[in-house]
Amino acid sequence: MNTVDVVVVGGGIVGRSVASSAARRGMSVRLVEAGGVTEGSSAGNAGHMVPSHVVPFAAPGMVRSGITSLLRRDGAFAVSHHAGPGIVPWLWRFARSTTEANVARGVPTLRTLLDLTADEIERLATGGARLDAARTGLLQVCSSDASMREAEHEVATFQRWGVRARLLSATEVREAEPALRHGVRGGVELVDDGRFDPAGLLAAVWAEASDHGATATTARVQRLEVVGDRQVRVITDEGIVDAHQVVVAAGVWTPALCAPFGPRLPIRPARGNSVTMPDGPRLRLPLLLGDQRLAVNPLTDGLRITGRFELTSPSHRAISERRTKELVRRAAEVLELPADAPPQHQWTGLRPATPDGLPVIGRMPGASAVVVAAGHGMLGSTAGPGTGEAVAAILTGGTPVVDDHIVSPARFARGSRRNG
Ligand SMILES: Cc1cc2nc3c(=O)[nH]c(=O)nc-3n(C[C@H](O)[C@H](O)[C@H](O)COP(=O)(O)OP(=O)(O)OC[C@H]3O[C@@H](n4cnc5c(N)ncnc54)[C@H](O)[C@@H]3O)c2cc1C
Repeated sequence: MNTVDVVVVGGGIVGRSVASSAARRGMSVRLVEAGGVTEGSSAGNAGHMVPSHVVPFAAPGMVRSGITSLLRRDGAFAVSHHAGPGIVPWLWRFARSTTEANVARGVPTLRTLLDLTADEIERLATGGARLDAARTGLLQVCSSDASMREAEHEVATFQRWGVRARLLSATEVREAEPALRHGVRGGVELVDDGRFDPAGLLAAVWAEASDHGATATTARVQRLEVVGDRQVRVITDEGIVDAHQVVVAAGVWTPALCAPFGPRLPIRPARGNSVTMPDGPRLRLPLLLGDQRLAVNPLTDGLRITGRFELTSPSHRAISERRTKELVRRAAEVLELPADAPPQHQWTGLRPATPDGLPVIGRMPGASAVVVAAGHGMLGSTAGPGTGEAVAAILTGGTPVVDDHIVSPARFARGSRRNG
């Protein structure tokens, strides 16, 4: 069989975006996906398009709010017993990364990936793709004085980094989204944000990739064998594919495939849940419910509610009906939801989370033909197509889109100044 220019491992939003960007530049591309989109975390997520989220998750104050959440039953942030002792070094690195320096380093990179994605989504929509997407603005809702105080602080941070954010009174919040019930104290409008249907985005990105000649194989990649500077054997359970370069975009499963080629990548699964309610209220806007720690998206097919960030193991995938009910119960504190609606369209996904809150994009130090594109945490869909563009620049030797030193896998090497 011929050697293809690029094999992409993983058919989530990041892998498909890489495949599309590379194919549009004339490269021959083969996507290898183990089991369809249901395997990964890209189909059932919240679908928030948030170019506002330029500040990395690892920022000052996050350790304190994480500990507060850990102490609360059903807090938004949790560590599962499935995570095992291996989670301790990750947590230690996370704590050490919650600095102003990490924020200053991360903001330009995240801004580039998020803005590029918003442009790509607009380009796809203008080209006729059915994305169920809109740049409506996003409403962050506060139902307590404490979250209002937090919101004031967040608005100041957003504005400091040039993000258009506006503090709203309770009346303004209810005018913006009449479906909200009592108990609203105020909120924040994130002017440039919006929403999309994550499954629609996956389909549209892949449609464009295959229009440009990319092909897909359903197989599980078992390992990669590097033969030379520009030759990799991709060993799958269905046979071998030869490529000049390989991009590993396998979400939380990326570290195992890349282990032979450099530092162990600290990408850990952060599990979350969603439920989609066809009979839910018709909202105008996507919402972030601050006190309930939920994200809500009015999809054409129903109201999607998502929540929780639970560090766990890659095999912890079983859907928990208790968690689904909890999502609906908490959302009902501010929204009129059908009482006792039977849980349907339940989903669980694993965010690929890094301890510094920044993705891993770049060549593995021990094998220049192996490129990583993973670790986007809670921003993978809203940064995926932008990541595709950044990786295509690496594959073709074009002008770098993001600063290699900030996102490179080499930052996790022992002895690296940034390795916490
Ligand atoms: C509850 C929840 C809400 C979220 N909300 C948002 C949001 O509003 N906006 C946003 O931008 N992001 C959101 N996210 C985060 C987003 O879902 C992820 O960042 C994103 O899906 C990661 O995409 P990925 O392509 O890196 O990984 P994945 O989607 O996990 O894809 C990886 C793929 O690799 C495949 N694979 C793994 N190993 C192999 C192998 N050996 N061989 C072949 N294939 C393999 C898997 O089958 C999988 O399909 C949310 C996540 C969750 C859980």
